[in-house]
Amino acid sequence: MNHCLDCGAKLSGRLDKKFCDDYCRGHYNNQLNRDKHSRLKEINSILKKNASVLEKFAEKGIITLSRQTLQAAGFDFNFFTHQLSGQQGELYHCCYHYGYHFVSDDELVLKFIPWTNVK
Ligand SMILES: [Zn+2]
Repeated sequence: MNHCLDCGAKLSGRLDKKFCDDYCRGHYNNQLNRDKHSRLKEINSILKKNASVLEKFAEKGIITLSRQTLQAAGFDFNFFTHQLSGQQGELYHCCYHYGYHFVSDDELVLKFIPWTNVK
C-alpha cells in the first residue's frame, strides 16, 4: 500500500499513484518550490553580503587585505559566484563584480571586475 506524499493518506488504485488528488499534488509541489526558493535566497544573501563587503573596502581604496579583516567584516570565504584567471595566471574568486586573489596565505588583493572582462 502506498501513501500520499503530501498528506500521508493511504492510496488505493494504481500502484504508481503518489497523491490522493490534484490538490495534494499541487500542495506538495508548491512546498518543494518554496523550500528550493528559500535555499536560493539564503545563498544569494550571503553572496550579496560578500560583494558589499568587497565593495566597501574597494571604495575606500583598500585593496590589500588580510583574511581576518574580511572575515571580521562579515565576509564568508565559502561562497563566491565564479572564478577567473588574471594575466599572471592568478586565480580570482569573484562575488559578482568584485574579485580577490591571495598573494600569501593570509593576504589578498581585491579587484573590480566589470562584466565586460568575463568571457
Ligand atoms: Zn493526499
